[in-house]
Amino acid sequence: MHVFFRLLRLVSGFWLRILLAAFLGFATVASSIGLMMTSAFIIAKAALHPSIADLQVAIVGVRFFGISRGLFRYLERYVSHDLNFRLLARIRVWLYQRIEPLAPARLQAYRSGDLLTRLVADVDELENFFIRVLAPPLVAIGIIALTWALLSLFSPAAALAVVVLLILAGAAFPLLVQTLARRPGQQHIALRSRLNAHLVDGVQGMADLLAYGAEARYLAQVDALNQETGRVQNRLGAIAALNDAGVQFIMNIAVVIALAFAVPAVTSGALSGVHLAVIALGVMAAFEAVQPLPLALQHLSATLAAARRIFQVVDAPPAVTEPPHPLPCSKQREQVAKRTGDAPVLTVRELSFRYGPNEPLALQNITFTLPPGGRMAIVGPSGAGKSTLVHLLMRFWDFDQGRIELDGRDIRDCAGDDVRARFSVVSQTTHLFNATLRENLLLARPDASESDLWEALAQAQLADFVRDLPQGLDTWAGEMGVQLSGGERQRLAIARALLKDAPILLLDEPTANLDAATERALWRDLSRLMAGRSVLLITHRLVGMEQMDAILVLRAGRIVARGTHAELLASGGLYARLWALQHATL
Ligand code: ADP
Repeated sequence: MHVFFRLLRLVSGFWLRILLAAFLGFATVASSIGLMMTSAFIIAKAALHPSIADLQVAIVGVRFFGISRGLFRYLERYVSHDLNFRLLARIRVWLYQRIEPLAPARLQAYRSGDLLTRLVADVDELENFFIRVLAPPLVAIGIIALTWALLSLFSPAAALAVVVLLILAGAAFPLLVQTLARRPGQQHIALRSRLNAHLVDGVQGMADLLAYGAEARYLAQVDALNQETGRVQNRLGAIAALNDAGVQFIMNIAVVIALAFAVPAVTSGALSGVHLAVIALGVMAAFEAVQPLPLALQHLSATLAAARRIFQVVDAPPAVTEPPHPLPCSKQREQVAKRTGDAPVLTVRELSFRYGPNEPLALQNITFTLPPGGRMAIVGPSGAGKSTLVHLLMRFWDFDQGRIELDGRDIRDCAGDDVRARFSVVSQTTHLFNATLRENLLLARPDASESDLWEALAQAQLADFVRDLPQGLDTWAGEMGVQLSGGERQRLAIARALLKDAPILLLDEPTANLDAATERALWRDLSRLMAGRSVLLITHRLVGMEQMDAILVLRAGRIVARGTHAELLASGGLYARLWALQHATL
């Protein structure tokens, strides 16, 4: 119920349109009833060979209702679909706004395929909320009232009986059907989302599946899920059939009961025989309004399940609470340009962090200062806490022990976006958006001019490559993404970082996925990028270490050693061992 009202609140603001659409739906079915009743009247009356004048009014009625039914149906479709798309747009924007602050920390918990399918399928399911869930009961209530009013003109008892049967067919029977369909309905949604997650997994991991010869096992799993989904769909289909047959059955009973009241009235002369047909067809037509109700209930449970899952994602508390009144923390570009004089100092003091109350400390007592123009590397084996440190620096997670300061200002007093504006990041995987190369570059600085772009590309040693493409900067990176080598992707990331030109350059395992030769070539370009900037290099690969002013060795969340490359090698600790290991394998 709570979910239902939350959904209603989501569509608030559209009430006028909703009522208009429901009214048009009502008018459509009412026209149907009118058409059936007037047609029945004409046919029955004509059998008695009356003068054409007696039929005149009914003929006009048939014309009127025949036209108005089509017209109202058209308008109803028009208004309700328009409304539907508006609601969808509202829901999508709402959803995006709600999940954006959750990224990336809170969304990590969901497998990417699962989250995506969940959100897409569930939002699509919500599409049904208005047209198939909200509108039909409103229309049915109106039609039941109309039927009652019309029938009680001839017999209040018959009116009551038909109304009871209408409610039975529209509410009680669907409730029964819904109880039957609840479990398979939920199973179906869950199975479908598992199947989708599995398929996305399989397509993304195809290379690994093939490499390990696991495709047969994978296919068998997909097949099993598919068959299970099919079985559940069958069950849902059988229930839907029961539904259709049941409503028809109740409708026929209603016609029989109405006639049972009408026939004696005709015999006693209280009612003209012509009205028998009018009543029978009118009752039949009234059932048109309750026919969509069973489906409405089915959709209601599916919609609520979808909404519950969406709310569950949305209700996750953001990993980072933004300060209510953020202090100004991002400098103007012009100021940044005078990098040498007032470059920011990054200070981390006694920083400790754990991912959850019961998790071990991922970082313990981390303290260091990155001076203006300084170059610092943080190295350590995997699991040491390097990515965690990056997450904290980028304000993806909150921390409460210790401080991180930019220019002496605690980053928790700044808006997350302002903090991120201070870093240019080159990370190990560079995501290329499904857009042109130009748009992928402009992401870093939307107002960059054409010559800015080319200059950045030239510095990243990518200008010739892009110039040789038939469409140059307008090449679609979506298809191109696959063709770009790992090194070229990283060069694109470097170009982006150059364009953004933030005061601190954060290199997060920039060469992790590259072969040794490409790695060396990329390092030459990275060195150019580092010139005149404060650099924080996070890596488990000890390459380029000679260029660093200071190296922190991280292990199990603690800094176990610090010094220059030469000092650390001389002292013979973990660093020297890692160095020996990596350079032996290289
Ligand atoms: P590195 O980047 O050096 O390989 P990480 O920062 O990824 O190391 O991991 C440090 C520790 O934090 C590891 O023990 C890891 O299991 C844990 N960890 C990383 N991410 C999460 C997370 N989202 N939730 C809980 N624990 C995590």
